[in-house]
Amino acid sequence: MTKKKYRIAIVGGSIAGCSAAIALGHDGHDARIFERSSQKLQVRGAGIVIPAPLFESLKAQRWLDKDTAHISLQGMSYRVSDSNNAENGRSIWHRPLDAVAMRWGHLFAQLRQRVSDNDYFNGIEVLNITQDKDQSQTLVLSDGSTYNADIVIAADGVHSRTRDLVNDPTSINYSGYVLWRGLLDQKSTLSSHTPTPRNHVLWHPYSGGMAGCYIIPASDHATSTENHTLNWGIYDKVDTDTLSKLLPDATSPEASSAHSLNDFAKEHLRNLLNTKIPSASANLFQQTTTPFVQAIVDLDSKKLVTNNIALIGDAAAVLRPHAASGAVKAIDNALSLAQELQSTSSSISDNLKNWQQQELPKLRQQVTLSKTLGEGLVTSAPVWTDMSEADMSQWWQSMLEGKNWYMK
Ligand SMILES: Cc1cc2nc3c(=O)[nH]c(=O)nc-3n(C[C@H](O)[C@H](O)[C@H](O)COP(=O)(O)OP(=O)(O)OC[C@H]3O[C@@H](n4cnc5c(N)ncnc54)[C@H](O)[C@@H]3O)c2cc1C
Repeated sequence: MTKKKYRIAIVGGSIAGCSAAIALGHDGHDARIFERSSQKLQVRGAGIVIPAPLFESLKAQRWLDKDTAHISLQGMSYRVSDSNNAENGRSIWHRPLDAVAMRWGHLFAQLRQRVSDNDYFNGIEVLNITQDKDQSQTLVLSDGSTYNADIVIAADGVHSRTRDLVNDPTSINYSGYVLWRGLLDQKSTLSSHTPTPRNHVLWHPYSGGMAGCYIIPASDHATSTENHTLNWGIYDKVDTDTLSKLLPDATSPEASSAHSLNDFAKEHLRNLLNTKIPSASANLFQQTTTPFVQAIVDLDSKKLVTNNIALIGDAAAVLRPHAASGAVKAIDNALSLAQELQSTSSSISDNLKNWQQQELPKLRQQVTLSKTLGEGLVTSAPVWTDMSEADMSQWWQSMLEGKNWYMK
């Protein structure tokens, strides 16, 4: 029996949307993307960590070029502030890692290249979706036109409006901490003054948060020792009053997007760097010209499917960044959905229901894992300065017991 070919409209053309278009295009479906932004998305984002086996598999399947710029990450070190070593802090733990650091923009650019320009409509917002009698969907587009599709894939991110067509309105909940982030181009600064070995992630946990950094390729794809970028981040507990000063629109869901710093936020970050982390890292992070801050939020959909509409990527659920799994989840959702639609024996709605049945338990597990990590590392963390190497290993194992995670 020949496979059915569907007209598929994808709302949102970022990691999840492009992954869906690639996977469905390979299977011969007519998949087209409507992306609201008319800007190049490549410039968004900072560093991203993905499992090394997934990176290799994406290259083998030609989703990524063989020479994709990346840095192999082989270890993770934890160093706490210590008066006897104010510059670099005291090591409390080291553990191996099998992951790859990339620039978010490079990952996106490679996926985008694999979607034909004829199938990618940028600067077009999907304003509404209605269901027709024959179960097909009509998308109302911002250029005044409409598009009729058999299936809609909602890849429209954390602020997805399509999600409200699938679920009762889903709340985005503040986790109790923010993430400060920055990129420091090392060509122009101190190539030899990186506080972390090139293939390691370095963490400085402290009471109320943790700062970390790793090296990513430079924006021109270079990965030489002199020419790369330091990607740093600080998770820091912040009460809602302070949050509203750091991010004046904190009550709106947009607080979960990255924001440049106002004067209050600049002072808050300066104080954090001066008091919480070893000086070598603090001095380096301080050189970043445009750091940014975002609220870490939780969001989890009860349903992934309704009326031939399926939610994937951050539109379905947002994982806290500690799990380093958001992009992995987006790609994985797209692949599993495409695979389910290969089934010739079922109707679209049965295909989508089957997919939801497989995906929801996985999603629940990922959401739980990412919250467990956030609580263990930030909001209910141990007293780091009291921890020995053995305590750290035991704490880590007990936190992840029974959980399935590639960075375990
Ligand atoms: C600080 C941080 C660090 C991270 N680190 C990692 C990591 O190490 N590893 C990892 O795997 N993941 C990581 N992630 C997560 C990862 O980047 C995201 O989970 C992933 O990019 C989700 O992609 P998406 O396509 O679902 O959503 P998005 O990238 O948010 O894209 C949604 C798109 O939809 C478009 N859109 C919205 N509404 C409409 C509309 N009505 N019509 C048309 N278009 C619309 C938007 O313009 C946008 O382009 C990190 C995230 C953060 C915040």
